[in-house]
Amino acid sequence: MKRDFKAVLFDLDETLTDSSSGLEAAHRAVTKRLHNYLSQHGVEVNETILRSKLNALEDKMNVETKYDRDEWWPELLAELGLKQEMPRQIAEELTQLYWTTYSNADYPYADAESTLIYLKQKGYKLGLITDTDGKPGIKNRRLERFAFIRLFDVVVISGEDTLRTKPSPEPFLFAASKLGLPASKCVFVGDKPFTDIKGAKAAGMRTVLVKRRDWGIGERADFTVSSLAEIPLIIEKNRKSYNKNPSS
Ligand SMILES: [Mg+2]
Repeated sequence: MKRDFKAVLFDLDETLTDSSSGLEAAHRAVTKRLHNYLSQHGVEVNETILRSKLNALEDKMNVETKYDRDEWWPELLAELGLKQEMPRQIAEELTQLYWTTYSNADYPYADAESTLIYLKQKGYKLGLITDTDGKPGIKNRRLERFAFIRLFDVVVISGEDTLRTKPSPEPFLFAASKLGLPASKCVFVGDKPFTDIKGAKAAGMRTVLVKRRDWGIGERADFTVSSLAEIPLIIEKNRKSYNKNPSS
């Protein structure tokens, strides 16, 4: 089968942007605020323990694709064995603090924009498929901060523009249809094997995993890279070999 890729689609967080400093800052700010709140109610918890619990919860909720932070904070208290109530208003305040702090420390990887520009100049359509941040509007506001957003032919916020988030194939198929392409002409690049790679594969796209860390779960990608700068070469190389061997 001849593969002639027409589009390259990307995930956002930890694929195009480096979330590590944003997450650390957000966790620090939320932990501090939560620590104060608990202190005011006579509950003393070690701030370091609180932060390490939040770190673990961040991974757990990502794996379970539960993105509404309002639901995270009561769960965090429960995991610490605390019976303290979490009023809606406090939960919303913590969520807002989380996203504001995160956004202010979230930057594109150094090779993100140059890779996108290179692919665009080569004639590939570009797409972005990113899951909702749990509440409509937050992800869109975060996206507007990035200059590279103008390079995309299609942007899909799954869970808002589509009913389902990754790893459902729905957002992937929706993005491909918006580009007027079958999924088989698309390559998807993401960092999470259990959402990005699983969903893109289910939709019939070829997949590239940018390995930012070892998640230990999820589907195996067609290709694995350690930086975005490696992507143009992989796509061009496979395109050529497929064209040379139309029967493969
Ligand atoms: Mg990601």
